[in-house]
Amino acid sequence: MPELASVNGVVTPIEEATVPIEDRGYQFGDAVYEVIASYGGRLLAFEAHLQRLTRSMKALAFAPMPLDSLRGAVVGLFERAEIARAAVYLQVSRGVAPRNHAYGAAMDPQIVITVREVVEKPAELRERGAAVITVPDERWQRCDIKTVQLVPNAMAKQKALDAGAFDAIFISREGEVREGTSSNLFAVRDGCLITHPLTPNILPGITRRLVLDICRRERLTVEERIFLEDDLFAADEVFLCGTITEVLPVAAVDGQPIGDGGAGAITKRLYDGLLALAVGTG
Ligand code: PMP
Repeated sequence: MPELASVNGVVTPIEEATVPIEDRGYQFGDAVYEVIASYGGRLLAFEAHLQRLTRSMKALAFAPMPLDSLRGAVVGLFERAEIARAAVYLQVSRGVAPRNHAYGAAMDPQIVITVREVVEKPAELRERGAAVITVPDERWQRCDIKTVQLVPNAMAKQKALDAGAFDAIFISREGEVREGTSSNLFAVRDGCLITHPLTPNILPGITRRLVLDICRRERLTVEERIFLEDDLFAADEVFLCGTITEVLPVAAVDGQPIGDGGAGAITKRLYDGLLALAVGTG
């Protein structure tokens, strides 16, 4: 089960893969990406990820790229790696060119794919829930585009770990709850789920969408609306969701326990629903 990389179709072990130093992804963060998870050798929501990647590329005015070749490249590497529970990373940069802020004429996008084994989260974290901290959202105003410009996310995540927490939640200047460093967030109050609406301030998470689909199927009430940090503290349940995060209960925010501190009933139900979808029984 080798962990493999592909750079423009050239396949090597991950440690041996390199990109040219004038790749615009490397010098300008001028690249978009996706992470797709597999369960039992099956990629979850692959088409939705490809659609979002296309949307991100369009938003940055990248040269159009045939989806079929991208799909084929991902499936080819995934199958070759033979890792049943994998995280497939797919990055497309605008291309390689002499360093210049302006990008001018369309260039050939550079495609990097890696396939790695997923390290499962400890069962205790899933059962007891994660501690999170809040941080001011200092990111740019197009967080709906999935670019590799992740320094604010990386710094917030490190701040959380340094504080003994699992993750950080971005809060706007107005006190609005946005999302985690690599996940979306839901709060549950009196049986109703609340999550930030799709605006340029959050990533339109694929898992968020899967969770919303499960809610609809299970007739759970959902409000996609702006809510405040104070609403978080008053919630019965809070959870994060994302491709690698899956559905993860939040036990405490800034040291204050949420609900009774463990994984809530609705969170558990949605986690089970997501896993059922992932393994093809949902
Ligand atoms: N928000 C941010 C900032 C993220 O990086 C991610 C992970 N890609 C998510 C939300 C969750 O998105 P998804 O469910 O598509 O993984």
